[in-house]
Amino acid sequence: MRRANRARRPTDDHRAAVTAPAPSIATSANLRRKAVLQAQVMFTCNNRCWFCLDRNEVDGEFHGGPAVVPFATIAALLQAHAGSVDAVMFTHGEPTLHPQLPAMLALARDLDFAGRGVVTNGRRLADGDRARALCEAGANRFVVSIHGPDAATHNASVGRDAFVEAAAGLSQLVALRGEFDLELTTSTVASKLNLPRLADTLRWLLDRGADTAVVNVVRPTGHARKHFAKVVPRHAEVVAALAPLLELPHDLRRRIVLEDIPPCAAGPWVSLVGTLEAWVVPTTNESANAPVARGTTAQVAAETVSGEASAGQTVKHSECTTCAANDHCWGVWEHYAHAYGWEEFQPIVGHSAASSTAFERRVGELLPAHRLTQALPQAWQLLSWTLDGRRERLRLRIATDAGEFEVMVEAADAGRPAWIRRGHWAWSHGPGADAACLSAIEAIAAACAQD
Ligand code: SF4
Repeated sequence: MRRANRARRPTDDHRAAVTAPAPSIATSANLRRKAVLQAQVMFTCNNRCWFCLDRNEVDGEFHGGPAVVPFATIAALLQAHAGSVDAVMFTHGEPTLHPQLPAMLALARDLDFAGRGVVTNGRRLADGDRARALCEAGANRFVVSIHGPDAATHNASVGRDAFVEAAAGLSQLVALRGEFDLELTTSTVASKLNLPRLADTLRWLLDRGADTAVVNVVRPTGHARKHFAKVVPRHAEVVAALAPLLELPHDLRRRIVLEDIPPCAAGPWVSLVGTLEAWVVPTTNESANAPVARGTTAQVAAETVSGEASAGQTVKHSECTTCAANDHCWGVWEHYAHAYGWEEFQPIVGHSAASSTAFERRVGELLPAHRLTQALPQAWQLLSWTLDGRRERLRLRIATDAGEFEVMVEAADAGRPAWIRRGHWAWSHGPGADAACLSAIEAIAAACAQD
């Protein structure tokens, strides 16, 4: 998930975000993940994915930095954010090509970044010694991009003969997990190139030992926008391709996370649409000019999507204002809406009490808005109290003197990353929370845990 908050940026070649993908099996890296620093270390890659977000739309090359970013640049970045950000992900291009990646990981550990991750296509990790060296240097999180369960499918996506090495790299990490505390996530971009084998790919990755298998819907920006017709399926086609996985046992199914898709278009997978990680994207590199991925412009389609639509924005249409998911939905990629229209995006209606989830009933009883309002520090204001589209997570929007931020509350036994666990609940936060906010959340969590 190279993704984060563009704050959110996605997983690797698809680069995401924000997101906190997923239920994590590992512990230390996740329990205190407040925000994730994105350290872009390479502006070159040994794959050439059709949907790469890092490659320029016009010439398909990398722009904005040297092929190999100097160690001193990354060291300065880490030092500037030490203490204010809990985790760092080494991303962009193919980070494992950087000869000093182990030294960067070691520095991140010395600077007390709790999470130290690498987004990778896995090829170089087929060399067990290299994979081990990264773990020994301090890596405790990997996001490995694999787009098919066989050479034909994977190679068609990445434009190189890469499958054997990528699969071997994943195997090396699975083996090392017995020795190191590793969180192992895979990222599979669901494109027209692999849809027929998408379900098989997810099954294969979970069978191979991935903690979490993330499905990234293609973001039509960069290289992916250039090759839109070749690679971007409709969301409905992705949902249909995942249908065979609905038969998986619940414990296995919940390890699948869907990213970059509005909840209304996720069909039966809406409960597995990923959470967001708050990514800190430095303003001194290309990411500063990357697409703004947050859907902040709730305007009518006629206003926002024109023939000249600029790439990289997400937008909403007028009906989104009536949607139960509106508060946390990022909207639709502008170019996608321009190409495919708005038919797939219909507002989610509120649930009736009779259809409410166990979480919803419990949170309504133990964490009602009026009670949380009383627990907030003086002068703070609870702006919204909403259950997200999957009805398994409470989202609180809070205003302080210094600005607004978001808090997410889930069931403590949900097994997903959280900043703090107290009693029935696991508390996390989105962008905007500073140290004072975090202390206040901790106090509120402690107070609410007394029930
Ligand atoms: S806010 Fe709009 S795009 Fe988002 S889930 Fe609701 S209807 Fe869909």
